[in-house]
Amino acid sequence: MAEYSHPFLKFPMNEKELEELAQNERDYLLLHGGSLRLRESKSNDEVRFAPFFLFPSLFPERGFRRALLVQTAMNKLMMGVAYDRQFLTHCLKNTIEVDDFTAGLFKIYTAVMDEGLTQPITLGLLRVDYFACDLSDTIYQVEANVIASGWSGMSVVSTDMHRYGLTEMGHLDKLDQIPVNTSLSGIAEGMIHAWDKYNVEGAAILFVVEERTINICDQRFHEFQIYKQRPGIKVLRRTHGELVTKATLTSDRRLMVDGYEIALVYYRMGYSPDHYPTDKEWSVRLLIERSKAIKSPSIQLHLSGTKKVQQELSRPGALERFLNEEEVKLCRSVFTGLYSLDMNEEGDAAVKMAIANPERFVLKPQREGGGNNVYGLEIAKTLSAIKNSPERTGYILMDLIEPHVQPNYLLRAGQGKPQLVQAVGELGIFGYILSDANQTYCNECCGFTLRSKPSTVLEGGVIGGSGAMDSPFLV
Ligand code: ADP
Ligand code: MG
Ligand code: MG
Repeated sequence: MAEYSHPFLKFPMNEKELEELAQNERDYLLLHGGSLRLRESKSNDEVRFAPFFLFPSLFPERGFRRALLVQTAMNKLMMGVAYDRQFLTHCLKNTIEVDDFTAGLFKIYTAVMDEGLTQPITLGLLRVDYFACDLSDTIYQVEANVIASGWSGMSVVSTDMHRYGLTEMGHLDKLDQIPVNTSLSGIAEGMIHAWDKYNVEGAAILFVVEERTINICDQRFHEFQIYKQRPGIKVLRRTHGELVTKATLTSDRRLMVDGYEIALVYYRMGYSPDHYPTDKEWSVRLLIERSKAIKSPSIQLHLSGTKKVQQELSRPGALERFLNEEEVKLCRSVFTGLYSLDMNEEGDAAVKMAIANPERFVLKPQREGGGNNVYGLEIAKTLSAIKNSPERTGYILMDLIEPHVQPNYLLRAGQGKPQLVQAVGELGIFGYILSDANQTYCNECCGFTLRSKPSTVLEGGVIGGSGAMDSPFLV
């Protein structure tokens, strides 16, 4: 695990300076919406500043540029998979035998494909995540998110806060090393493109949201940004539960909610079994998929974002089905080892390899939202128990990436003093793509986010509790 000394900061820092910086940055976040709702409170009236790192973390500039460069190819790849029924079915046929949640999604997919897509166009709003292990141009893709890809709003606040912090500390000459972040305006632009494509005056954008949203500022930023960029577009926020009674289809399949025709459905949930507590939520997802509204994601794009598809795409020859030579090279350059656990010789060998050296791998089920993976000795335990059962095909195996570590100060609301930790950062690159099976209307890379965590924790979701907002400082 590579570790770097900072080019201009000395750790630990002077207490007085640190305290002042912490107060300044905390207040910056509070005043600019860099906040979360309290998970433990029932009230929606309060927010607290989101956990954050006081300094932007070092990230290799060449790796950062590579991640930006790959994005439009990744957008195209995920969309290509979404519209390739043969490939999707081939990838997921074993998974859906053992994973009920993926099977539920696949059932909806089969239903809409069999009757023919009412809306041929999909909007992809992606966030592709990476680790850098050193300061070279080599980066490794962790995963590609195609549903509820968060932090494009909050990361703009975070980069602005870090610029302000560096200025306050007298490092005005270093501001250019934090790149300009257009993630929020970019994602909003993607949604507006979809709304324009739908082309019905007065139609609305529907945000499908959780019963209670912790990451409320990030979501609201998107909504308010749409108002800013295109004041005439109405945005509705509705929970899955509300849509059970409110969402209807007209005879020509327009999606109606509270008197509004819906041009675009933007999911900020729907990726976890908990989001479908009864058959009614599954029915409402099907109803939306059968509608004329453009979806982000459509069911086919949702499925193309599964971990199993990621693993299948790493096979020799798989990318060539969707991308040109140059794009194949770019995408392949960020892949790390991924292994199928299917019930065949190849899967047997992977199981054996993982049990023998579990510390070299991550075991991943078909889930999103963090906190689902298996690490270290637990991998050996889990796989030993299911090695002869088809249950193992619900997982994929991935090489453990060991990102570079660096000292930084982490501050959480209510904690008092910033805490000095060894941190690792996960870079996310945002992109949007609007296309159907034959034609791409727009395909853009539109910004970034960096979320970091203490190197001692295995998973770093900010909402999950161990991660914190950060920004890249390019070196
Ligand atoms: P999710 O869709 O739940 O976010 P991820 O694949 O992103 O699933 O895994 C969650 C977290 O686990 C990542 O944010 C990262 O911290 C860690 N992780 C995932 N894959 C790897 C890997 N190959 N090596 C090291 N850490 C990983
Ligand atoms: Mg994910
Ligand atoms: Mg992730």
